[in-house]
Amino acid sequence: MKLFPYKSSNDYTVIVGCGRLGANLANTLSDSGGNIIIIDKDPEAFRKLSPSYGGLVLTGDATEMGVLSNAEIEKATAVISVTNKDNTNIMVAQLAKEMFHIDRVIARLYDPECECVYEEFGIDTVCPTELSTKEIDELLGVPETEVEPV
Ligand code: AMP
Repeated sequence: MKLFPYKSSNDYTVIVGCGRLGANLANTLSDSGGNIIIIDKDPEAFRKLSPSYGGLVLTGDATEMGVLSNAEIEKATAVISVTNKDNTNIMVAQLAKEMFHIDRVIARLYDPECECVYEEFGIDTVCPTELSTKEIDELLGVPETEVEPV
């Protein structure tokens, strides 16, 4: 995984999905001084943002090019897609990478089998299934092994 310095004078992060994870990310990145826009198709979702959130919100389906254009995604230094649907996150990540040439693209994927495919396209993935498995194994004291995805 290539590491980028998070903040720079022209940083602009587009977050897709204002669920528990998206809202939390938006709150922490905004609190650390980042320029953020968060997109969700459900306007009620923005109620999860903290009162101190200083970024923008945009209501719309992020799989639509018009919505991504309205978010000025082409100016983004990072795009993070964390909706509850792998297909949506994959589509947004691919649009960000291929159509808008965004360097830093991160997608949440529930299905660990999809992960390696996206690394080839330069899309970083975060898989809650794998992270939870690792954490539970650690709590149980299970020794680390190289396990092939099922
Ligand atoms: P959670 O399950 O708590 O991580 O929430 C996922 C969020 O993603 C919800 O607020 C959904 O409304 C949002 N979401 C799902 N699909 C889309 C989409 N195509 N465009 C924008 N937001 C979406």
